[in-house]
Amino acid sequence: MRSTMPDFPLTIASIMRHGTGLFGDHEVVTYTGDGYHRLPYRELAREAARLAGALRGLGVDGDQRVATFCWNNTTHLTAYLAVPSMGAVLHTLNIRLFPEQVAYIANHAEDDVLIVDASLVPLLAPILPEMKNVRHVIISGEADTGPLLSAGKDLHDYRTLLDAASDGFDWPEVDERAAASMCYTSGTTGNPKGVVYSHRSAYLHSMSVCTANAMGLSAGDRVLPIVPMFHANAWGLPYAALMAGASLVMPDRFLQGEHLARVIAEERPTVSGAVPTIWGDLLRHARQHGSDLSSLRLVPCGGSAVPESLMRALETEFGVHVVQAWGMTETSPLATVAHGDSWDLRVTQGRLLAGVEGRLVGGGDTVLDADGVSVGELEVRGPWVTGSYHLDEDTSRFHDGWLRTGDVGKLDARGYVTLTDRAKDVIKSGGEWISSVELENALMGHPAVVEAAVIGVPDERWGERPLACVVLDGTAGVAELREFLSARVARWQLPERWAFIDAVPKTSVGKFAKRALREMHARGELTIVES
Ligand code: ADP
Repeated sequence: MRSTMPDFPLTIASIMRHGTGLFGDHEVVTYTGDGYHRLPYRELAREAARLAGALRGLGVDGDQRVATFCWNNTTHLTAYLAVPSMGAVLHTLNIRLFPEQVAYIANHAEDDVLIVDASLVPLLAPILPEMKNVRHVIISGEADTGPLLSAGKDLHDYRTLLDAASDGFDWPEVDERAAASMCYTSGTTGNPKGVVYSHRSAYLHSMSVCTANAMGLSAGDRVLPIVPMFHANAWGLPYAALMAGASLVMPDRFLQGEHLARVIAEERPTVSGAVPTIWGDLLRHARQHGSDLSSLRLVPCGGSAVPESLMRALETEFGVHVVQAWGMTETSPLATVAHGDSWDLRVTQGRLLAGVEGRLVGGGDTVLDADGVSVGELEVRGPWVTGSYHLDEDTSRFHDGWLRTGDVGKLDARGYVTLTDRAKDVIKSGGEWISSVELENALMGHPAVVEAAVIGVPDERWGERPLACVVLDGTAGVAELREFLSARVARWQLPERWAFIDAVPKTSVGKFAKRALREMHARGELTIVES
């Protein structure tokens, strides 16, 4: 029997209509460093129509890629709405990648038009000549465009273009399965790979973000996405906020603790997502200055393992409830969120959201029991989990319709995922696996430790042993740190090699760049203290 329900298309345009139509007086606020630029959603809808009209005028009439090279701000949000809704494909370029990678990605995606923030023009200028398919560059804000001229592209001023366009646009009917946007993985573990989201996947993902098991967004919320819109869709917060009718507060390029603390105190966001390093900075700033973070009811945190010490400090000292979440570019990105009454649950990567299925796979690709004990690679599948990469023949990351995440850990019968490592970061010591993340988190619980990254280094006897690279604020010797660790991890896991460094090298998106650390070690650049 067929249902009586229509295949009503799930599209970004319908999210836009709902958010800007029913919540017209809610707003997107962009911090400018010394004040705020405010735009009611009612007006945002007109801006989106103008942008679509302007792009149409530049020849965007199909599924051309319109790339963005922008911070989190009103212009970027306008592109998030206008580009997919007009049937084109939004490509969020990650401004923090190496220039060659940005050019590679822009060429691979065949970007046609590029929207760039004025503040990012200097970063774009040397890369632009390499972007072979880009015809038009639209600059948002006042910039010296001199450095862009030699690339031979048509340059446009965003405001002038939009002012000349109509504030109505005849939005087309778009197939929900059509490409809406694309994003490349940040390449922590290899070359960037393109993930292409459909309208349907973005819509379903947004609904999931709005559920109470995820972020429970409502029209009463003010959402501050600190996690960049140029990487993994800012965890889906922009579309989810419009779906819920929540206002958005955008930090633009001001991501330092003092700016964020000011924005939180003044704009009083209720929900804010960022990676652990950002919350660590903000915690230090807030402690020094007694900042008011009390408006935040929920702080989803992820991108890398969230130290329990960070969660506890924000909660007990500032009343900020941090929930850990896990996901990847390939999963739109939200896949698990760690709500729970006890810390045992809150320190996990989280529970699988409805729609995302997970399983663990061990040696020989055998599926392991979800018993909370077995350790294997996590595989996931679902309507917002990619099934392939854009123009990429390599199928090694896919397994019978499941995505191999490259993350190693445990899964329990309730769907809670506990990651112990990335497959390639696991330290294989004498046939046993040591979790680098567990050691790092334990170390970062020591009051004098600002950051700690642990890598496996060759060892004659054991094959590999952990090397703890520690950034100190204060004094602590190896003996003290070992003693501290020995109360928290098994004896045989205790590192006997230590290096005290000024900072842990980070990837383009602020994760510990263990590959860089391994290379530094291989070049003999780390001074090692043996214990
Ligand atoms: P990449 O870092 O490969 O460029 P993503 O930015 O998409 O790709 O990051 C996804 C990866 O980030 C996951 O596969 C996982 O290793 C890591 N990650 C995300 N959230 C968490 C978390 N809460 N705990 C541990 N690791 C996490």
